[in-house]
Amino acid sequence: MKPQGYEVRTLPLLETSPLPREKGCAFSPPTFEETLSRHGLAPLRARAVHTLQINVGKLCNQTCHHCHVDAGPHRSEVMSRETMEQILAVLRRYPSLTTVDITGGAPEMNPHFEFLVATCRDLGRHVKDRCNLTVLFMKGKEHLPQFLADHQVEIIASLPCYLETNVDQQRGRGVFERSIAALRRLNAVGYGQAGSGLLLNLVYNPLGAKLPPDQAELEAEYREVLRTRFGIQFTHLYTLTNMPISRFLDELFRTDGYEAYLELLVTNFNPHSVEGLMCRTMLSVGWDGRLYDCDFNQMLDLAVSKDCPQTISDLLQPGKVEPLVHRRIVTDIHCYGCTAGAGSSCSGALT
Ligand code: SF4
Ligand code: SF4
Repeated sequence: MKPQGYEVRTLPLLETSPLPREKGCAFSPPTFEETLSRHGLAPLRARAVHTLQINVGKLCNQTCHHCHVDAGPHRSEVMSRETMEQILAVLRRYPSLTTVDITGGAPEMNPHFEFLVATCRDLGRHVKDRCNLTVLFMKGKEHLPQFLADHQVEIIASLPCYLETNVDQQRGRGVFERSIAALRRLNAVGYGQAGSGLLLNLVYNPLGAKLPPDQAELEAEYREVLRTRFGIQFTHLYTLTNMPISRFLDELFRTDGYEAYLELLVTNFNPHSVEGLMCRTMLSVGWDGRLYDCDFNQMLDLAVSKDCPQTISDLLQPGKVEPLVHRRIVTDIHCYGCTAGAGSSCSGALT
């Protein structure tokens, strides 16, 4: 099965969608919690918090069609230095938070990005940067490949297709070429090269309302094509399911495809994916310091359970992290996007 990249348009930003049920859908699947109960898996609870996923803002140099963040060049939500200082104070206090996963928007567009990365590395944390590749060619960002390599940051990069015509048609003229050029630059400083220790993982998500293909098979295909045509090396490919929220949800409603997609997700519920759901081991921090179970809940404004601390500054008071470790996860209909087929997470398929 050939992958297809998601489309990039430069439409005006759409208002973030409400939850699907509020749109008056006729299809009425069981709630996510009911499905978990049927499989003896409810309630969904965290079992650790070892990753802090930090959304440093919605500012981005692209305006991708399926972006769950609704990010773009005109968004003004950007994490302040003060909020970052609070996050760093929490990291100093809790060594059990071993991984910092930085996302956006294009996280590199936050003016304090390098400060955050360098300080987290000084604190001994593993740092991931979710990079859209084209940002590396923005004015003033040319040094980033070397900076990221020097700090041994893991890069997780969007490359939703390996076919030039497809990407150019769907993401805009020149996007594929710039992505390939960025990957070559990253390879040149050691990323994706065996023995370098510099991890370069690529991310695929389907075009439209279908589930991703088999991750291992697609990774082999990507590896072969990128190596033979472009001389590019990478570490792993992650396949992600499109979440029925934000711009993708708007698209589903516009094309009358929402119910069919929801049915696809619900009927492909995979109980084996539940053990590895990313919300069970991470905490998500919004650009304004508020806490969520994951980046998707963040975009839907579904805060962590009310009996937990609600902001990163709350965690600076003694004994506040403990309630988060086994907290009840706040779920809704979009959670079926994480459990359909092979499952989906920030690190790809779950089963
Ligand atoms: S955050 Fe990622 S998906 Fe969203 S517009 Fe930017 S590059 Fe595209
Ligand atoms: S959407 Fe978030 S809360 Fe729901 S299952 Fe996925 S990771 Fe967990």
